[in-house]
Amino acid sequence: MPELPEVETTVRGLEPILKGHRIESIDLRRADLRWPFPPDLRQRVQGAVVTGLGRRAKYGLIDTDRGDTMIFHLGMSGHWRIDPSEIGKHDHVVIETDAGRRLALNDHRRFGSLDIVRTEEIGGYGPFVKMGPEPLGEDFDGAYLAGALARRAAPIKALLLDQRIVAGLGNIYVCDALNLAQIAPGRAGRHIGRERLDRLAGAVKTVLTAAVAAGGSSLRDYVQPDGELGYFSKEWRVYGREGLPCPRCATTIRRRVDSGRSTFYCPKCQR
Ligand SMILES: [Zn+2]
Repeated sequence: MPELPEVETTVRGLEPILKGHRIESIDLRRADLRWPFPPDLRQRVQGAVVTGLGRRAKYGLIDTDRGDTMIFHLGMSGHWRIDPSEIGKHDHVVIETDAGRRLALNDHRRFGSLDIVRTEEIGGYGPFVKMGPEPLGEDFDGAYLAGALARRAAPIKALLLDQRIVAGLGNIYVCDALNLAQIAPGRAGRHIGRERLDRLAGAVKTVLTAAVAAGGSSLRDYVQPDGELGYFSKEWRVYGREGLPCPRCATTIRRRVDSGRSTFYCPKCQR
């Protein structure tokens, strides 16, 4: 499942292909992904020039010179294919640029989405309305967390996964950041002191930045014909490493399952 660094990598990979280019055609090969495409999507995008790309949480943003922003989400299995030599049945959206480049949004499970909004009204886009700050942004730090978690009795892991507290964090990065910050995933949010919250905010940025860097260095491998944007291999601190040694103290990493989601943690150095 693509997480924030995969989306960031995808946006960076799409940028040289789209930015400054006119979209000659957009072919919607079905009516919907997770929900229907906006009925005027094709008309608003076809012939527009892409002026810039960006990311909000796990959403990719494509701005056009008509004052619109296309917003895509990769869901569980989505990725963009670069200059595919043939279009397959899971290529649900196909874009062609004035430079003859072709992009296909491929999503076999169809949990992704593609929308279009007025750029100036992007804050009102449903998923963005109550969304917390970007974890890599300046607003996200120990002081912010101290305010956001002050009266919260829920476990810190659940609080970090709450998109209203911080945007775009998924299970993998929350597990790894808690290990790096030496905080137990079950610790109540309000019982974590300010110094530890500073460390936690720093740890979140560190694990995400490392993953974004890994994604960036993988880009040259797949920005080529039939390349696929969105996935790259990384090494985790604790995620998926049950039974292996903690990178800090070498204690055996444990896995716990609550409500169907795995938590990986070190029982010794995470308090
Ligand atoms: Zn440890």
